[in-house]
Amino acid sequence: MSSYFRNAMQVFKLLNKSNCKECFKPTCLAFAGSVFKGEKRLDECPYLSADVIMQFKDAPQKIPAIDQGASDIIEHYRKALAEIDLESKAEALGGILADDKLVIKVMGKNVSIDQNGKIFTDIHANQWVIMPLLNYIVQCKDDPISGIWVPFRELPSGRAWQGLFEKQSEELIKKVADTYPGFFQEILELFNGKKVEKHYKSDIALVVYPLPKIPILICYWLAEDGIESDLHLFFDAKTEDYLHINSIYAIGAGLARMFEKLAIKHGF
Ligand code: SF4
Repeated sequence: MSSYFRNAMQVFKLLNKSNCKECFKPTCLAFAGSVFKGEKRLDECPYLSADVIMQFKDAPQKIPAIDQGASDIIEHYRKALAEIDLESKAEALGGILADDKLVIKVMGKNVSIDQNGKIFTDIHANQWVIMPLLNYIVQCKDDPISGIWVPFRELPSGRAWQGLFEKQSEELIKKVADTYPGFFQEILELFNGKKVEKHYKSDIALVVYPLPKIPILICYWLAEDGIESDLHLFFDAKTEDYLHINSIYAIGAGLARMFEKLAIKHGF
C-alpha cells in the first residue's frame, strides 16, 4: 500500500543526509521541503532504494486542496441519485418525503433535496456538505448503526487517510477548542449537539450528527501538568456502510472549517 507525507521531516528522514546536491538542491533538507511541496519527485534522489520509492509512488506529495476533484464526484452522485426512489428510501436514510423532496437533517438543520440532486436549505451548502450528503443518499444501507465508537484510523479504509484527516480535521478543531472558550457550548446550541458520558477519560465529550446515521463523537482532553490538550473524533464502526471514506474525510475537514469560521466570527 502506498503512503503519503504528513510533513517535510518525514521525507528528510528517508534521505542519507549527505547533501551531495545530485538532486540539484543545496541540501537534503531543501530537497525534502521541495518533495513535500510537490516541486520535486522522491525518485530524483538517486540514493533512495526502489522499495522506498515504490512505497511512496502514488502518494500525494503535498496535501491536496480541500475541494480538489469534488465537482466530478458530486456529478457522479447526482446521476446515481436520479435512479433512486426517494420515497421508499427516505426512512432508511433517517429522513422524510415532503413535496416530492427528501428532507433530511444536516448538523441538526433541515435540508431538502429533489430527484435531480438540487438542494434547498438555509445553511451554507458548500461542496463539503453536498458531496457527503449525496453520497449518503446513494450509498446508505437500510440497517442500524453499530453503536460502537472507533477512531478514524480503525475504519476499514481509514488508515490510508489518517495523516490527512489528523491535519485537516482533528488538529484544526483542537486549535479552535484550545482558543475559543465558548466552542463546545456553541456546538450544543447551534448544531444540536448532545453531551454524552465522558468517553476515554476525556474532559468533554459530545456527539454531533452531520447526517442522521453518521454520529461523530468529539472528545477533548484539557491541558494538564505540562501535558498538551488533545482532541479526537470517533465514528460509528459501520460508518463506511453509509459513506465512502472520501466523504467521511470531507465531513471532518468541513467541520473543522465551519468551527474555525465560528471562532473567527467571535474574535478568536
Ligand atoms: S541527491 Fe539525495 S542525498 Fe543528495 S542532496 Fe539530494 S536528497 Fe540529499
